[in-house]
Amino acid sequence: MTEQQTLRVPVAYTGKTLHSGIPVYMRLLPAPADTGIVFRRTDLPGKPEIPATVESIVSTNRNTTLGNGVAQVMTVEHLIAALRGMGVDNVIIELDAGEIPLGDGSAQTFVDMLREAGLCQQAAPRRYFRLRKPIWVSKGDSHMVALPAEQLKITYTFVTDHPVVGIQFGEYVITEPVFAEQLAGARTLIFGRDIELLHRQGLGKGGDLDCVVIVDDDGYRNPLRYRDEIVRHKILDVVGDMGLLGFLQAHIFAVRSGHGLNRGLMQEMLRQSNVTIGVGNR
Ligand SMILES: [Zn+2]
Repeated sequence: MTEQQTLRVPVAYTGKTLHSGIPVYMRLLPAPADTGIVFRRTDLPGKPEIPATVESIVSTNRNTTLGNGVAQVMTVEHLIAALRGMGVDNVIIELDAGEIPLGDGSAQTFVDMLREAGLCQQAAPRRYFRLRKPIWVSKGDSHMVALPAEQLKITYTFVTDHPVVGIQFGEYVITEPVFAEQLAGARTLIFGRDIELLHRQGLGKGGDLDCVVIVDDDGYRNPLRYRDEIVRHKILDVVGDMGLLGFLQAHIFAVRSGHGLNRGLMQEMLRQSNVTIGVGNR
């Protein structure tokens, strides 16, 4: 039986945000069993809390934003990926702004924070989100299929007509060592030709070569950490979005999916109510 886990001690980080471009002070706090992941806006009256659930999603435009009607938190996906990837069930995330700090554009900053804090087991069994039958969603030429499985496995095909990036394929069983060593360091990618559009939408203000990979039609502007860094980051995003379900046990096949379709797949899993939330034996 796997027990639930939380942080041993609080840990803090100050950093800039990708989309709003402002600095934010973030603390991760230990939380009791069955709390789940909860965001708390310390800069707003009453310090409103937002649970990290599928129902809390309010936007999937270039990031996953959660909200509760009075408060929002943008760009939660890399932090949630690190929490689930490293086996955290319960945590309170305090923020004095409406966006998670970007770190270096990957989940590495958050993995480092969790290692600094250390984790401890709690006297309650971990709950897993399991499927009883296949679920699939498509939008245009983006597709996702989830099959019942004993663990979380993600198979991703990144398809683009971009002359430099091309087609990238990746497949990982999401265990803590795999997450920490092969996925956590993969950074956000932005196409150079999309930057103007992002800025027009008021997004990406904090983006620079310290925290995103920028690729133009004639090459990458900064050195890559992995030859296939983009597909690794797309898998990281799937881990983070699926983390809103808790600890998912499924084999997910994704082609060209982004945050919007990730949300669609999770909604379909919940809508078809064919899940069992049980005690795992991993
Ligand atoms: Zn991402």
